[in-house]
Amino acid sequence: MSNGGEEWDTRKVRQVFNDTDAKTILECPINPISEDLQVWGPHSSGVYSVKSGYRWISSTNSAQEDQSIIWRTFASLPTLPTIHLFAWRLGYEAFPLGRKLAAAGFANGQCCMCQEAIETGLHAFRECPMVKEAFGLCDLSRFLPDGDFNSCKEWLESVISRMDQKQLMLFITLLWNL
Ligand SMILES: [Zn+2]
Repeated sequence: MSNGGEEWDTRKVRQVFNDTDAKTILECPINPISEDLQVWGPHSSGVYSVKSGYRWISSTNSAQEDQSIIWRTFASLPTLPTIHLFAWRLGYEAFPLGRKLAAAGFANGQCCMCQEAIETGLHAFRECPMVKEAFGLCDLSRFLPDGDFNSCKEWLESVISRMDQKQLMLFITLLWNL
């Protein structure tokens, strides 16, 4: 953000992020809070303690190990680095989707493609009727796992176990182009 914190530092955002991400970031309105406050997120009080720091590091390390199959699989695909990064972000659900934007007070949370559900990672990339139609058009539907998943990570692990490299390439490239 700019020095006053009232608008994005366009030059810096474009310098750090790729064109697509920069455009998305620059379209996000900035919360009109004038003063910043330091808060330690991993503890409900917002105050850092050694104990909460230790727990956070432990949970982060396990999360990284859990994600490794997703990262290793998609990073080994012979495709663009931006698609590798997209797959990693998908595993972490690191996108400014409707539910997160609504929690920050920026949107109503509805899926921008169908307007029929709250836009979570699983909805946006798996359950949305528009996405299902796209999977159907390229004949990927029969390889996708059925059932309920609690996160994109769980879903991706199941997808990885069912598809060969060529199918995974098509799968992730299709999602990246949505
Ligand atoms: Zn939708």
